[in-house]
Amino acid sequence: MQTWHFYTTNELKPAGWMRRQLEIQAQGLCGNLDKVWRDVRDSAWIGGDADGWERVPYWLDGFIPMAYLLEDEDLIARAKKYVDAIIAQQREDGWICPCTDEEIPGYDKWAVHLISKVLVVYYECSRDERVPDIICRVMKNYYDLLSEGKWVLHDWGKYRWYEAFIALNFLYARKPEPWIRELAKMIRDQGTNFYDNVYLWEKPVNKWRWETHIVNIAMMLKFEAVSHELLGEAYQDQAEYFQNILEKFNGMPAGTFTGDECLGGLSPIRGTELCSVVEQMYAYEHLYAVTGDKKWAERLEVLAFNALPAANSDDMWCHQYDQISNQISCERFFGRPIFGTNADDSHRFGLEPNFGCCTANFGQGWPKFALSAFMHDGNTILNAVPVPCELDTEHAHIALETDYPFKNSFVYRVDAKKPFTLKVRVPSFAIALKVNGEACPEKEMLTFEFEAGQHEVRISFHVRPALMDRPYDLKTVKCGSLVFAAPFAYKKVMKEYTQNGVERKFPYCDYDYVGEKKDWNLGLYATHFEKREMDVDAIPFSSEKPPVVLLTDGALVEWELEDGYESVCAKLPKGRKAISEKRTLTLWPYGCAKLRMTEMPMIEE
Ligand SMILES: [Zn+2]
Repeated sequence: MQTWHFYTTNELKPAGWMRRQLEIQAQGLCGNLDKVWRDVRDSAWIGGDADGWERVPYWLDGFIPMAYLLEDEDLIARAKKYVDAIIAQQREDGWICPCTDEEIPGYDKWAVHLISKVLVVYYECSRDERVPDIICRVMKNYYDLLSEGKWVLHDWGKYRWYEAFIALNFLYARKPEPWIRELAKMIRDQGTNFYDNVYLWEKPVNKWRWETHIVNIAMMLKFEAVSHELLGEAYQDQAEYFQNILEKFNGMPAGTFTGDECLGGLSPIRGTELCSVVEQMYAYEHLYAVTGDKKWAERLEVLAFNALPAANSDDMWCHQYDQISNQISCERFFGRPIFGTNADDSHRFGLEPNFGCCTANFGQGWPKFALSAFMHDGNTILNAVPVPCELDTEHAHIALETDYPFKNSFVYRVDAKKPFTLKVRVPSFAIALKVNGEACPEKEMLTFEFEAGQHEVRISFHVRPALMDRPYDLKTVKCGSLVFAAPFAYKKVMKEYTQNGVERKFPYCDYDYVGEKKDWNLGLYATHFEKREMDVDAIPFSSEKPPVVLLTDGALVEWELEDGYESVCAKLPKGRKAISEKRTLTLWPYGCAKLRMTEMPMIEE
């Protein structure tokens, strides 16, 4: 097991399309939530009267690294304003969350875990030397109250116990004091053991339960990665056990698991919540860093290049609470939603469809992903995820130029300040790998030893489109880390309104993406694929100008609407024989195709 360490925003900066994606996020909802959304703007965390629990910490968790990655003075100042106000409310005894003495016993301790994690993120970006002592006092207070038996973990805190370990690991690395390990053990022992729950994951319960809650599960995948060291336990890859069960019974082609908002099974018309996408990404980032096992980096790429962009509008002002593999229209359901436990607006693109958790939380996806591009151990630097960026460390300045995942060529411009080793992870789907123009048989990891001075490395490979087996004898087209889907035209219908005191007003309004609902009933021949690469647009995952498309052949098949719905295709086609002439299908990246068919049958001749 090779463990890698993350760089911070002081060393790693996004470039190319990765930078543009973060700029779009900064100009969209995440970069403006403190101006337009009451639960952040008027939060109790900064002395207001709105939400004083998860929403401000969720938002800061993405807003802070985004601000520092972009080196944007205004964003950084606004992050500091929030952190200053939170710190100013910390009590003498260390308690930092905004609630009264009477409220503390019932206050869900998940917010303690979350704000401590966010303060670590802030410290790593800002190097604000007030912060380590503040986190230490929060956790010392937590230790005192848990060991006196005054508090017990319950509800979210109990199901998200491992979230406290980001701060505990940070404290222990700075000052290894015994109480930190004791606290770690108390938290784990009071937390949920997910092994007790897996029997509930094999078919949809369709009832809201802590044990099948998709965001709890997505977060949980990292529990061993973040806790085993502090608990003094050997690492056993327990996440793989959970991953396999989830994939088998709830897997989606875009790398996530159905959860709307509890596990939903294998149907291509069940959704998954955006919070789970970004939490699953964060889990995989830790799993890869701790184990160096490429399967986690590859799973991370699938989420980042498909499920994440799919759920946001191009301008990142709107998001879907639940995205679905086969969605032929994204409208409000009047009456019975298709989901297990989510409301009738969960499928819209909007400000806070269904619930405001994703509104606050989705912003962590891209910044933390950008921060996973390079990792390090000693004098070895690893390119973990090859997105365009620049790294500046004591060893070297490295500029990585690439349009990956849309194109598969990479230029590393290296200015070595002293001798160091560069490693580059090779994806398992790469074929015809070339290094500096020469064919290379390596399948796992490229290693370059550099002396001080200037160097350039050029890498390229090919990726073959392939059909991925899906349940119910359906197929999904995949090419490397990109999932491809048949896109459909739609009309954006703007909805401006106020509900429960929350205003939706352009650009922070809701939209129905109303599909034409014709000729979506596609089957595949897939006798050939032709890949066409275009320039990457200013909007990398553009819903109008996709950077790459795949041409293949298919035809219409007999496939009706789901019984009782006008905007949902049936779970499965009625027939698998062609009912039209053979036609060329132009498939788009899943993240670009807002309305799409992703899981389709093969046409029976
Ligand atoms: Zn959410």
